[in-house]
Amino acid sequence: MHILQILSLKYNVGCEVLKKIYVFVTLVLLLAVGSFFQTNEEAAANRSRQYYEEAGQIVWDINTEQKIIALTFDDGPHKVYTSEILDLLALHGAKATFFVIGENAKKNPELVMRIYEEEHEIANHTYTHPIKTTIPKLMKEIEQTSEVLQNITGHTPTLFRPVGGQYTDAMIDAIAEAGYKVVMWSWHLDTEDWKEPGVKKIIRIVNSAKEGDVILFHDGGGNRRQTVEALKQVLPELKKQGYTFVTISELLAIQQSTIQK
Ligand SMILES: [Zn+2]
Repeated sequence: MHILQILSLKYNVGCEVLKKIYVFVTLVLLLAVGSFFQTNEEAAANRSRQYYEEAGQIVWDINTEQKIIALTFDDGPHKVYTSEILDLLALHGAKATFFVIGENAKKNPELVMRIYEEEHEIANHTYTHPIKTTIPKLMKEIEQTSEVLQNITGHTPTLFRPVGGQYTDAMIDAIAEAGYKVVMWSWHLDTEDWKEPGVKKIIRIVNSAKEGDVILFHDGGGNRRQTVEALKQVLPELKKQGYTFVTISELLAIQQSTIQK
């Protein structure tokens, strides 16, 4: 006798009802097992920083004795703040890297063009800035953004920064396969300017920068007045200390030449 028939006799309920419960429970169990494996496969970032640096797939900062620093700006371009930041960079002869959001780039092509013409580097920071997404959706966003940038400047970016700096090993594999290098930032140089911590605090963090470091700022995604005000002070200060501000690609080229020596 089938298990369902035994149970229906025992509990005096129709076999059909039991069948439905049986199917439902099986489905729930399958989903639970499925999501367990998916989480394990996709959410893991088990490989070390050293592994990724040696593979050349992610950069945080570089080892160098040259007095260079890479300024990076995420989440723009923004009509007001990006323009003001570009003015300041021009004033101090500084180069920077802008990790733009595709939909913002599409809305502000003249700013993208200005960043490009003033010889800063333009990099990819997804199309809609999703906090959580799947790998196929992420790759689509990266592709979309690069297409927008290619249409505006005639160039496709080679660098990508994940949203919130969050990544998994599987994500890096897909991004590397698509031909992008992932750019993080020096661990001690997250200005957290998006939290509007005060100009003084931003300045204090930036002032701890050393040779080969990558500093994280935001030029879009909210009120960035404090970022602009902090830059007015840190750019001349670091310049006075002898630093030159380079793009991420320039930083990587210097790293490459150091390795070859
Ligand atoms: Zn961002």
